[in-house]
Amino acid sequence: MSLSASKIRKTALRGRLLSFDADPSQSAKAARFIEDGVLVFEDGIITEIGEAADILKRLDLDVPVIDHRPYLIMPGFIDPHLHMPQTQVIGSYGAELMDWLHSYTFPEESRYSDPELCGSSSVFLIEELLRCGTTTAAVYCTSHPASVDAFFAEADRRGMRMIAGKVMMDRNAPEALLDTPERGYEESKALIERWHGKGRLSYAITPRFAPTSSEAQLLATGVLAAEHPDMHIQTHLSENHGEIAFVRELFPWSKDYTEVYERHGLVRDRALFGHCIHLTERERTSLADNGASAIFCPTSNLFLGSGLFDLAGMKMAGIKVGLATDIGGGTSYSMLTTAMEAYKVLALRRQTLKAYDAFHMMTAGNAAALGLEDRIGRLAPGYEADVVVLDGHATVALRQRMERVQTLAEELFVLMTMGDDRVVAATYVAGKRVHDRQAFTHRPMEDRPEFQLRAADLPAESLAETGDQ
Ligand SMILES: [Zn+2]
Repeated sequence: MSLSASKIRKTALRGRLLSFDADPSQSAKAARFIEDGVLVFEDGIITEIGEAADILKRLDLDVPVIDHRPYLIMPGFIDPHLHMPQTQVIGSYGAELMDWLHSYTFPEESRYSDPELCGSSSVFLIEELLRCGTTTAAVYCTSHPASVDAFFAEADRRGMRMIAGKVMMDRNAPEALLDTPERGYEESKALIERWHGKGRLSYAITPRFAPTSSEAQLLATGVLAAEHPDMHIQTHLSENHGEIAFVRELFPWSKDYTEVYERHGLVRDRALFGHCIHLTERERTSLADNGASAIFCPTSNLFLGSGLFDLAGMKMAGIKVGLATDIGGGTSYSMLTTAMEAYKVLALRRQTLKAYDAFHMMTAGNAAALGLEDRIGRLAPGYEADVVVLDGHATVALRQRMERVQTLAEELFVLMTMGDDRVVAATYVAGKRVHDRQAFTHRPMEDRPEFQLRAADLPAESLAETGDQ
């Protein structure tokens, strides 16, 4: 028997469901956990979530139920800061920010004048993110418009919610990477027309950071931002002391780094500032008052020795905070590993990061930092069906450790301490399974207890993406 096209659009997942309705640091009832739950989605949107016993008895018998028990099912992870052209820069030895940019990153980004490389790197990055359970990211491409075309084309092909933009820079970088204020503006504008709002894609206005943009370019960027008041802006802010001193030299009129962006109308809602490690009180107040988001990138901050993010201070100031990998200054694609490194950074600051807070940050918290809290980051009716399935017993060491675990909070903390891409059993984008760990290891379908379906003939299209990963 084959299922009709109208029926196969509806699918259900069964497993241990976890989602956050609010920030667990603010509300004791923020986490919603169902030990044996079912999540139903149709045409890429979640339609129902609840106890398996309730939902299964009224679910149409033709709806495939993919049984992921005993795995955890969560909203797909969200990574609000990373660089597409830096997948071959990760782990470049021994430099601080400005040296690292000039010695490794700029030479690598110069290669992206080649559209073929833009294409192959975009495919690699997206597949790697999906393998790690990340379904949405805010992505810096290079200054070449072709890099944005390639990335968006690949994300769109897979139906992903992605944010990306062309880096604008017109000074203090190799000639091959520089645009001009006019070209940066025009090229961004053309890309916005081509991609913004297509499928689930959104454009981000992307001046790399103050040191690589002239005042004229920041002015043009401000004009572009004013023309698109709801659009994301992404840039870097206050990562490293050398960088801050350089900004002081380049913009002597400015009382601090943040004012350089403020002056050009770039500190606002949906503005994403990577790092924000060494901010003054005034700068924090400005980010909070203007509704901007600070993005905490712990593996990058440790790797480049940039400094220790002050999460408690940022939250106290009322700033929205996101947690991100910052590939390739960052060293892992995994949001679980990133959360563990965040915990360690905060431990050095005598602060803590509870497991619920960390998992909230990776999902609903990061959605809020991106201003997308009404669409992604939660398992709730009306939300987009981007989902990650986590296997807490994926490695020998995890199985040994999990024997002593007694609460969900303990389980989650072990998962983020010892977990990485290996614990991601499956990833769904808009209701479609796009990563399947078992297919990745080439085990035949029949051997997989988690994919025993109530309706055995799951449509071929829902497995089409998994065969060669
Ligand atoms: Zn960055």
